[in-house]
Amino acid sequence: MKPSNTSVAEQMRQEAEKLAQHTPSATAKDFTKEEALLQIQKLELRVAELELRNEELSINNTANKTIAHQHSTFFQHAPTAYLVVSETGEIITANNKCSTLLEKELPQINNINFSTFLAPDQDLRFRKFLQSIFKHKKAENIELSLKTSIPLIITITAVFIDDIKHCLLQMTDNTNFRTELDLLQQERGFIQDILNGQPAGIYRIRVFPIEKWEIDGWRNTQHPPYIMEFLNDHFCNILGVDSESFKMHPSVINDLIYSQDKVEFARLNEEANEKVIPFRWEGRVIVNNKIKWIHLESIPRIIEGGEILWTGLLYDITEAKQLEADLKLSEIRFRNVFDHSIVGKSLTTLDGGLSTNHAFEEILGYSKEELKNVSWQDITFQEDIQHNAELVKKVTSGEINSARFEKRFIHKNGNLVWVDLSTTLLRDENNAPLFFITEIIDITERKNAQLALQDSNERLSLILENSPIAIWDWDLETDIWFTTQKYYSMLGYEPESGYPDRSVWLSRIHPEDRKQVQIKIENVLERTGEAYAYDARMLHADGTYRWHSVIGQVVERDLSGKPKRMLGVRVDINERKHIEEKLRESEGKLSALFASMTEMVVMHELVFDQNGNATNYLITDCNAAFTNITGIERQNAIGKLATEVYVTTDAPYLEQYAQVAITGKSMEFDSYFAPMDKHFLISATSPEKNKFATIATDVTALQQIQQQILSKNKELEDYLYIASHDLRSPLVNIQGFSQRLQKQTESIKSQLIYCEMSPMVELIITKITTEDIPKTLDFIFSSVTKMEALINGLLQLSRTGRIKMHIDKVDMNKLIAKVAAAHNFQISESTGSVKVENLPDCYGDDQQLNQLFSNLLSNAVKYRNKNKQLQIKISATNAFNKIIYIIADNGIGIDSRYQEKIWNIFYRTHPQSQIPGEGVGLSIVKQITERHHGRVWVESEEGQGSTFFVELQKNKWE
Ligand code: ADP
Repeated sequence: MKPSNTSVAEQMRQEAEKLAQHTPSATAKDFTKEEALLQIQKLELRVAELELRNEELSINNTANKTIAHQHSTFFQHAPTAYLVVSETGEIITANNKCSTLLEKELPQINNINFSTFLAPDQDLRFRKFLQSIFKHKKAENIELSLKTSIPLIITITAVFIDDIKHCLLQMTDNTNFRTELDLLQQERGFIQDILNGQPAGIYRIRVFPIEKWEIDGWRNTQHPPYIMEFLNDHFCNILGVDSESFKMHPSVINDLIYSQDKVEFARLNEEANEKVIPFRWEGRVIVNNKIKWIHLESIPRIIEGGEILWTGLLYDITEAKQLEADLKLSEIRFRNVFDHSIVGKSLTTLDGGLSTNHAFEEILGYSKEELKNVSWQDITFQEDIQHNAELVKKVTSGEINSARFEKRFIHKNGNLVWVDLSTTLLRDENNAPLFFITEIIDITERKNAQLALQDSNERLSLILENSPIAIWDWDLETDIWFTTQKYYSMLGYEPESGYPDRSVWLSRIHPEDRKQVQIKIENVLERTGEAYAYDARMLHADGTYRWHSVIGQVVERDLSGKPKRMLGVRVDINERKHIEEKLRESEGKLSALFASMTEMVVMHELVFDQNGNATNYLITDCNAAFTNITGIERQNAIGKLATEVYVTTDAPYLEQYAQVAITGKSMEFDSYFAPMDKHFLISATSPEKNKFATIATDVTALQQIQQQILSKNKELEDYLYIASHDLRSPLVNIQGFSQRLQKQTESIKSQLIYCEMSPMVELIITKITTEDIPKTLDFIFSSVTKMEALINGLLQLSRTGRIKMHIDKVDMNKLIAKVAAAHNFQISESTGSVKVENLPDCYGDDQQLNQLFSNLLSNAVKYRNKNKQLQIKISATNAFNKIIYIIADNGIGIDSRYQEKIWNIFYRTHPQSQIPGEGVGLSIVKQITERHHGRVWVESEEGQGSTFFVELQKNKWE
């Protein structure tokens, strides 16, 4: 259908062109050049169509008759199946091929509705198809299934035959094609699935030749120089745009690119296109307001027409980028941590190269450079190298991942540094060792303390093992309890440690104590109670029972605060129990004694004011004697203040008692207690600070007797004085008249010379006057002298007792010196010596003490041993608040039988001896010491010497 060159249409077109180029008429205003050309083209097309029609019609007309027959033959034998159907689908006519497809002879086909050959569900579709053909009167296609022996898929192309109101159906067997198509479809789905299943986005872009690119090239989003041919789901997902949008606006990817990366993206694209080289780009896109890192990579292939097909992959590398950033950050952090950590850190390569941080250098005292040149062995303490090396080996071999141990480094200054070392071997992805990361913490101080503790712990466990204490550890959640060996051995069983069998152990508790222990255990296991302590008797291996004391304490709690673990000890308290029993017994005895004592025993506690001064005292206990003597009931006294009990303004004897309770020094005094009108001898003692006990004896009766004795003594002394004083005058008379009688006898004697008497008478008278009377007179004289001495002695004694004493401090060194001086003559006469030691002062009456020591010293001289050189020693000794003066001689000594008697008046051990004396001296000594509230006694051995002891007061007394 080639249009002729001179056709009417061509002529029209030429005219129109002319018009468009040369006629700037009113029409030119309405049409631009382009619009005009368009109009011309349209016209040309219309003309071509008309020409074609005409041509077909003419051909039809001329050939119509001649080829009608041919057509009928062609129709029947055509390789394509044809059939003509009515509007209802009734087959008017069909050709041979149709008969073959429908598997029916032609006569069996004609006048049959085509629907009967169709598969059951196809009927309706076919009808609708026919309706559409007859309605729209234009060619249409439909694919239908035939219910032939092998179901066939056919494509029917229908053409409405207007003149006979029939429809020509061309029927093509598509079964094979359809099957292949299905296969292809499946394959395509498979490939699609594979592509979609890829972790990467896959795409294909067709890019126009550069000469066809519009202004702005790759950046032109309105008319981008490419079209998106394929993209998989992943591609869309990564960029957050659906595939339709991509296909419609392929430049959408350009819009997504992060503004700062756009220039580089376009530049690379243009370059790759220009040079037709693979394209690679990594950059940011904004998807759903978030930045995503993507990686694009595509390979070009030039196709016909100069277009380039880019097939590529798109990866979302956001995470990787983030990881990379994190890695960078962590590397920076690691560097920071490494360099500035207070923990010593080092990286050691496998060949021993060491890089360290500041703390590491600080701990070991070396500089970084110095450490670079040493291996770890060089700075490790010899003894620790092997252990260290073994662990390194284990880590390197992969037996363990890391190692942590304590070791000693050698500090640059030579000292050992204990460190807690952790090391990990870093490996690459192929598990090949890279380097060791090591951390060290200086634990020298802790280690030293730990060693000291370990030492002390060892000692402690040694002590524990040797002490009567067993330790147990009780897990209350599992009710398992662990004990030390001592737990068994302390009861004489084979020593073992571990988990005791409760039933065995309970059976060893004394039956009387078992129940209470069981209850305690249950309480603890219920985990409500805290305390766990009891004393119980345990069966010893030797069959006896021993008292044990058990104390436990909660050492761990669970999250709700309930006791979880308990630690405790078991101690053998058998001895203590026995002592306690004895104590109880003796306490019983004591309290019985306390109750039955006739002396009042009262326990008190001091009461202090704000300034700490004792103001009163409480009665805390008292015995029955207290009530008997005072008449105050026990319950009215205990817990009450002294002022309440005794109804006084001030607490009685507070000052003395406070002194006793505060200083702890006991005190004894007697006193008249006016509120009760009684005399007490009070002894106060302090059992503990601020407490005191008084034992008071009612000495009222004794006091009265003493008073009576005193007054009787006084009377006696008075009698003694009067008697001795009054005896002196008759004695003087006897003496005087005896002397006169002597003189008178002498006169008689001288007168007798002149008297004449018988010789007999003269003999008798001479005998009377010269012998008898003088002899009698001698007796009288010596008796009088004796009596005078006795009376003088008595008088002296009486005077000594009556003389008023002036008690003052006496300088004993001075006093003795004076006494010795008085005896100087006799001592030197007997070639004796007196040795006086330094003597402490005492209180007393100076004159009387002079008398006392004079008597003792003169006795020592008088009763000296003639065969020895006299030696007298005077010394003293302190005895609490007394002083004992000692006068020792080496004289004749005193027979032990007489040592008590020598203190009696007029007693002399050798009354007939030549040694002068009346036996009064020692009586006076005794009297004086007693008046000084002192004592005197003698220790002596006959022939060896005597030692007299005089005890006097160190302090002044009332
Ligand atoms: P007198 O010395 O006057 O006999 P005393 O009363 O002084 O009386 O002594 C009583 C007796 O004690 C003495 O007769 C003497 O036997 C004995 N006596 C006293 N002092 C000593 C002494 N130092 N050595 C031995 N005997 C002594």
